[in-house]
Formats: sequence, structure tokens, C-alpha cells
Amino acid sequence: MALDGVKEWLYGCTHCGTCKDVLNIFVPACPAGEMYQLESYFPSGKILIARGVSNGALDLSDDDIRERIYACTGCLSCEQQCGVYHQQHIFEIIQAVRTEAVTQGCLNPAYMVMIDGLKKDDNVFGKPKAERGEWAKDLDVKDARQENPDVLYYAGCMLSFDSELWEVPRSAINIMKAAGVDVGIMDKEEACCGGRAYEIGYVGEFTKYAEHFLETVSTLNVSKVVTSCSDGYSTFKNLYPKINIEMKFEVLHTVEYLDRLIKEGKIKFSKNVPMKVTYHDPCHLGRHLRDDGVYEPPREVLKSIPGIEMVEMERNRENAWCCGAGAGVSQANTELALWTANERLKEARATGATALITSCPWCERNFKDAVREYGEDMEIYDIAEIACRAL
Ligand code: SF4
Ligand code: SF4
Repeated sequence: MALDGVKEWLYGCTHCGTCKDVLNIFVPACPAGEMYQLESYFPSGKILIARGVSNGALDLSDDDIRERIYACTGCLSCEQQCGVYHQQHIFEIIQAVRTEAVTQGCLNPAYMVMIDGLKKDDNVFGKPKAERGEWAKDLDVKDARQENPDVLYYAGCMLSFDSELWEVPRSAINIMKAAGVDVGIMDKEEACCGGRAYEIGYVGEFTKYAEHFLETVSTLNVSKVVTSCSDGYSTFKNLYPKINIEMKFEVLHTVEYLDRLIKEGKIKFSKNVPMKVTYHDPCHLGRHLRDDGVYEPPREVLKSIPGIEMVEMERNRENAWCCGAGAGVSQANTELALWTANERLKEARATGATALITSCPWCERNFKDAVREYGEDMEIYDIAEIACRAL
């Protein structure tokens, strides 16, 4: 959204500080403010910056101003805690300033690389487009472009190109096949969903990928699109409607589909997976979806796996602390991304769990990187990997 479109929300912040902590339990809510400990990094400071840019008092060519605006994981925790009328628009304000920076040509070099990759190879990592379907090599799965499956599995950029995470989409496909689902993939013809481009202010690229997605998937005649990427899921459900893109097929996250298949008796777990685990709610599968946050299906799936002992972290569901990777932070500010992830790992460790389970590849990647950086003793998995072990 353009800065003009958020003007009505730039003057409501009372600087009460409520968004700094989770209501009632008084533990930190905003990763950026908490790490930098400066008002300008907290939501209230960012709203002031947006106001200054809007009325011409601040200039986006100033590196310090842009740094504050990009130091935000888009976790929406501030929106969850704030009680003032602009509460559902805080990240929209930040995103609008980012859009303004792009419009003015005040660009962040890390994002220019990402956007070049998108333009050339339809993915945010700039990896060769021809390698997009490599994760499914040797996996007996239909080519959705030729074999008319009922369900399309959408891997997204992270699961397509990070080979350390390939077990996630492979597990999702294997579980669906075991449940008798007629599933296919688009292989190298799959493209980015455009969500990351939107969050960093490149609205033109976002619109291009949203339209491309609708056009290509509509020709496949599938009844459902299933994805294991929470960012992609939130983009389809939450961002596409903003530009009036309507989908004639059902969109499900893997955890929702697995929960449904388990309840229909189509998935039966036969093996014991003895593990004490805690579950991390990805922001894009929770707060980004407002009242439709997917909080219970992943917990239901975990509880149905024999041997799993599930314990909750203090900040869970709509109050979950972010993994740190969102809204372009893992690509441009690894210090903030990894610090935020390590705070979550410490919280997970305090539960006595030995494994942190999530349902988003951006979270999984960032947690794995934080384990390497900080050395916290914690195993990291996606739900599909654990569910597949129990088949
Ligand atoms: S954003 Fe909301 S909660 Fe935060 S300081 Fe402003 S009014 Fe208070
Ligand atoms: S979206 Fe998250 S990181 Fe960004 S200002 Fe709000 S609480 Fe802080």
C-alpha cells in the first residue's frame, strides 16, 4: 500500500508502550525493539518515522531511517498487543514506508539481489529455475501440468531450493500418497508466490506473481492447493484478496490437510515416535490470518502421533514470539534474525522439550541457523517430518 493510503493511522499511537510486552504475562513481544533497545526500533518509533516521512520531515535516503523500517520481522505481535484503533494496521504502515522507499529508489542492496533473482528465475534466492523441482527427484509424484491430479502441492521457494529441508516436502507427499490422495506438483514451472516481495515494498512484483499463480493453477483444474510454507499460505489467503484475486480452489496448509485426513481415518500412525516436543506457531500461520489463525490443527496432529509428548512454551498461539526470519529480515539482517530465533530456542529449552516443531520452512531454516550460531541444544523439525516417521 502507498503511504497516502495509511495516513489515517499515523496519528493514533499514544506511545503507551503496551506493544512492547505480551499482555498479562509481561514478556517481550517485539523482536526488533527488544534486540536494539531503542524507541525507534519499537512499533511506536516506526509509526513516528512513517509520520515523519509522510509529512516530509524525514528523508528515506537516510540509511538510519531505512534501517529502522527494515528491522521488522512482520510478526504482527505489536498488532496483537496494541489496543488503539490503528492496531490492525501497524505492519501495513511499515510496509507502506518500504513501498515508498522503493518508489523513491532508496533501495536496500540485499533486496535488489532478491528482486533480480525473482525477475530472472522466479525465486527469491536467484537459484536456476530449472532446479526448482529437484527436491522431488526419484519421488513417484504426478506432474500436475500433464496428469490432472486432484490436489496440487505447492513447495514454495525455500522448500524448493534449500536441500537441507527437502525432507519436508518429500514427507508431505509421502503422507498424502499413503492416505490415497491424488497429488501432483508443477516441478520447474512452479514460481514464487510473491509474498516476500510485497513485504519488502515491491508491490509490482507481488502483483505479477499473484496473477501468474492464479492463471497457471486455474488451468490445472485441481480442487485443492496444499502447501507446507506458512508464508506462501498466508500470501494466498491474506494478501491475494487485497488485490481482488479470487481462487476457485481450496487452499490448505499441510497441517490442516493432515489433521483432516487423520480425522477422516485416512492416515493411520503405526510407529512410536518417542519425543518430548514443543510447537512454534509461525506468525504467517497465526496472527497474519487474524481470526482464522491455524493454531489447533498442528497441535491435534502432534497429539495423534504415538509417543509424542507435547509441552507449550510460555508465549504460544497468538502471543508466540517470532522466529526472526520474516518480512525479509533473514535475507538482510541476519543478526536480528538469529538473535530472535535464539530467544525462542531458549524459551523452548525451558519447557524441557528436546525438539522444536514448526510448520514453516522459513522458521525451520532460521532455527537451524541459530542452533549453529549460538549452540542451543535443540532439534528442529517440521510436523510433516515427524508424522512421516510414524507411518
Ligand atoms: S502502537 Fe499501540 S500499543 Fe504501541 S505504543 Fe502505540 S498505541 Fe501503544
Ligand atoms: S511486526 Fe513484530 S518486529 Fe515489526 S514492529 Fe511489530 S512486533 Fe516489532
